[in-house]
Amino acid sequence: MIEVKELQKSFGSLEVLKKVTFAVNPGEAVAVIGPSGSGKSTMLRSLVHLEEATGGSIIIHGKPLVKDGKYASAAEIREITSPMGMVFQHFNLFPHLTVRGNLELAPRTLKRESIKDITAKSKDLLSKVGLTDKGDVYPSMLSGGQKQRVAIARALMLNPDILLFDEPTSALDPELTGEVLRVIRQLAEEHMTMIIVTHEMNFARDVADRVIFMDNGEIAESGTPEQIFGSPQLERTRMFLSRE
Ligand code: ADP
Ligand code: MG
Repeated sequence: MIEVKELQKSFGSLEVLKKVTFAVNPGEAVAVIGPSGSGKSTMLRSLVHLEEATGGSIIIHGKPLVKDGKYASAAEIREITSPMGMVFQHFNLFPHLTVRGNLELAPRTLKRESIKDITAKSKDLLSKVGLTDKGDVYPSMLSGGQKQRVAIARALMLNPDILLFDEPTSALDPELTGEVLRVIRQLAEEHMTMIIVTHEMNFARDVADRVIFMDNGEIAESGTPEQIFGSPQLERTRMFLSRE
């Protein structure tokens, strides 16, 4: 579903991704862990073309977004990245729109579905994330956990078949992380294909089919949660896990 080959990214002389290679199969939940600054966000952002790679390939559903450092056309990029939804650490909700407005903006702009279908879907998705009664409320009235659940519902409005999460609970007070992780866990149980960058090690261990440990711009180690948390092969993986 996603194939990343020798992905490279530099900001000036700073090499942030050094030949990162991995693949994600349909229905898989992959957790990405690693120290701050190791390139996790840059990797995720490259998949949806929020960052432009300086080398390597990203193939989504068999279509190259970038192949050996050469990007597809703007129209192809839009088409290739469209099956992916992204949820950010800081929610990125539109403050001037209600919760429902946030959910419906993109689908109403794209006009691929009728208003009736869009309204029905936003209602369904608000119920799915446990916010049935919050449709008419503005984001400023919500807790962080509620905002993040709105952000997840908004990402689902476009029927993504891949969801990317960049530290979805890092900005939340500890007592609010559970309600967000529960929604992500439910998506995993429904076999949504997901890449989840997270500091929640217990969550990664429970929910991920596979864990990727990034360090210093590379995938240092990857494997099942049992392998990575139970018997990490590298000293730097052990060091990182002992600090978390
Ligand atoms: P992580 O998400 O693992 O914390 P990031 O992908 O955010 O890591 O960052 C990896 C490295 O790239 C860091 O050293 C960071 O400072 C640098 N970096 C990220 N974005 C930019 C940018 N737009 N310009 C320059 N350096 C950046
Ligand atoms: Mg990050």
